[in-house]
Amino acid sequence: MTFIISKPCVGVMDGACVEVCPVDCIYSKPGDTQLFINPDECIDCAACEPVCPENAIFDEDDVPDDQQEFIKLNYDYDYDSSEPGANA
Ligand code: SF4
Ligand code: SF4
Repeated sequence: MTFIISKPCVGVMDGACVEVCPVDCIYSKPGDTQLFINPDECIDCAACEPVCPENAIFDEDDVPDDQQEFIKLNYDYDYDSSEPGANA
């Protein structure tokens, strides 16, 4: 299980979630349009979910039906080529 960043983050990327994540598992790189949660590093603490001003963060099981594609986007993101934080 992991948490997922979904569509409302696109174009916002304010980094509020980054500030509260205890394991620095929220990533981005220049040119990205949203941030991503590394499912291999997320410890499911849920700290990021309530601080997101756009309501973009969901438990994997609670991602809305019309945003299911964002689960794959978070899983498949190239974490090796990016850094923790709001770098976009
Ligand atoms: S659930 Fe916790 S560990 Fe996972 S991304 Fe959010 S703040 Fe980080
Ligand atoms: S707090 Fe929400 S809108 Fe801001 S960067 Fe994180 S997921 Fe995106």
